[in-house]
Amino acid sequence: MQFNEFNLSEEILRAVEELGFSEMTEIQQQSIPLLVQGFDVVGRSNTGTGKTAAFGIPAVESITDGDKRAVTVLILCPTRELAMQACEEIKKFAKYKRIVKAAAVYGGASMERQIMELKRGANVVIGTPGRVMDHIRRRTLKLENLRTIILDEADEMLNMGFREDIEEILTHVPEDRQTVLFSATMPPEILAITEKYQRDPVQVKIKSSQKTVELIDQYWFMTAMGRKTDALKLLLAAYSPESAMVFCNTKKMVDELTEELVKSGIRAAGLHGDMKQAQRTQVMNSFKARTTAVLVATDVAARGIDVSGIDAVFNYDLPQDNEYYIHRIGRTGRAGQKGAAYTLITSRRQQYDLRNIERYIKAKITELPLPGKDDIIAGKKREITENIAKYDAATHDAYDILDDLAAQGIDYREAAARLVSEKLKKEIEGLPEFDMPKPLKKGRRSGAETVKIDLNIGRSKRIAPNFILGALVDATGMTGQDFGKIDIFDNHTTVEVPESECDYILDSTNPMKINGNKVEVKLYKGGSGKEKPSGERRVRKQDEFRKPDRRRSAYGNRKKDDVFGEYTANRRKRSKKRH
Ligand code: ADP
Ligand code: MG
Repeated sequence: MQFNEFNLSEEILRAVEELGFSEMTEIQQQSIPLLVQGFDVVGRSNTGTGKTAAFGIPAVESITDGDKRAVTVLILCPTRELAMQACEEIKKFAKYKRIVKAAAVYGGASMERQIMELKRGANVVIGTPGRVMDHIRRRTLKLENLRTIILDEADEMLNMGFREDIEEILTHVPEDRQTVLFSATMPPEILAITEKYQRDPVQVKIKSSQKTVELIDQYWFMTAMGRKTDALKLLLAAYSPESAMVFCNTKKMVDELTEELVKSGIRAAGLHGDMKQAQRTQVMNSFKARTTAVLVATDVAARGIDVSGIDAVFNYDLPQDNEYYIHRIGRTGRAGQKGAAYTLITSRRQQYDLRNIERYIKAKITELPLPGKDDIIAGKKREITENIAKYDAATHDAYDILDDLAAQGIDYREAAARLVSEKLKKEIEGLPEFDMPKPLKKGRRSGAETVKIDLNIGRSKRIAPNFILGALVDATGMTGQDFGKIDIFDNHTTVEVPESECDYILDSTNPMKINGNKVEVKLYKGGSGKEKPSGERRVRKQDEFRKPDRRRSAYGNRKKDDVFGEYTANRRKRSKKRH
């Protein structure tokens, strides 16, 4: 159905047309008529399906001359970004309807400015629950005249701990009101809110998550735990997206990964909830302007963010939830454009989780080998060729230089070749060692000769065996079973390792960080003989080496990731360091 087939006011139709919308999305087709008629609606649909317009257009439509100075519509969003984004979009719908005054209120920004805006007669207010509650308490936001309250991304708001605020806000609004709730998932807590606060709600459900993912090509790559950053760099080099999002499961990982990418010359920036509002806005603007090519984010920070023209989404960490996978990859392939999603997998366990996701989204995720040196160079050659072909005509000055070079015996072809070589070199600088070692299946290595490595950190730094083991697994991509006895002394620690892997381990672990301490790893040359291990010890006999290790789970969230990590024997020659 087209927007103009529906009975909307002239002003709105004009604005919608200017935005380039003609066909309504499914959720819009189903909910706009209900909302305009004043029904309570509970809508379930995935990200990127056009929910803002689904509730925003009826909201703008509902404002009349009588609503000049009273808050008539309140929209609650989980994050500041979403509130700002929804506010901007609503202002666009209201472009030709001057009586609509939209204002956004959210934490981390000046209270005074928001109060000013509210005082200026806002009738549509969009805000985060915490800040809305703040304004209600200060009496700078009065809701006696509210007709409609909309909860956008309700599940996410509950996840973020806004339940109490939301319930309290709902008690501050007139009973005779329209209550609208949108959510990607419908856990029992949402149903409870629906039951308690909505009146005969009409359910609108857009089933197929396929709808959002069918235009997205999806791939996965097997890599070792300690090599994920390198793998990502290779992928970024191979696909050279102009605009990409990379998802991590933790804020810390966002920071670390961003730093690492920036160090290798990638225009990356991080986005997560611990950042100041000004900083987040700056990051988003720079990403929208394409100054930042790679946005590294957590799920919550990126929720619902709508930036068009993202060519690729990378799942650096596998999402913890199937729905999250859809949300993440839904950032690309928006509004009918094609996109691609790439997922890094580090263990068999994760491979099963990915199969699960495939079944859930009913789409195929194809395994690809990580790109190797030849692929990347071939791609860069193509890029350079295309770029040079696009350049404008050469200048006289350029010919002068070439002639001077020719006079020195460097002919045109040679001069051009040198220039192009320089360009190519720049392109592949900072890339990790090409041709990453492949993580293989289990097996081998039991009864191997062992040696000891020595780490200059010990009990004085309150270190536990599992910290050591976790850090080693992380840095090397090997498995917990590859490491033997761990003896912790006051100021250092020794770990038994297979002799055949010792060089590789030393290569991959220098430098290494454990618990925030920079640690040096060396071959252990034997102690004074007097020293006794103190504190905890992790003792494992030689013949235990390849047995399943229940203790794996002791290093927390890493337990999913440590199954793989055995390399081919010649990998030592290739891998220099961890990142
Ligand atoms: P959601 O809230 O469901 O994640 P958004 O409201 O952010 O989705 O909309 C996603 C994108 O689709 C936005 O860029 C929006 O402008 C665009 N959009 C929404 N409705 C339409 C439509 N009917 N036609 C074209 N584009 C649309
Ligand atoms: Mg939205």
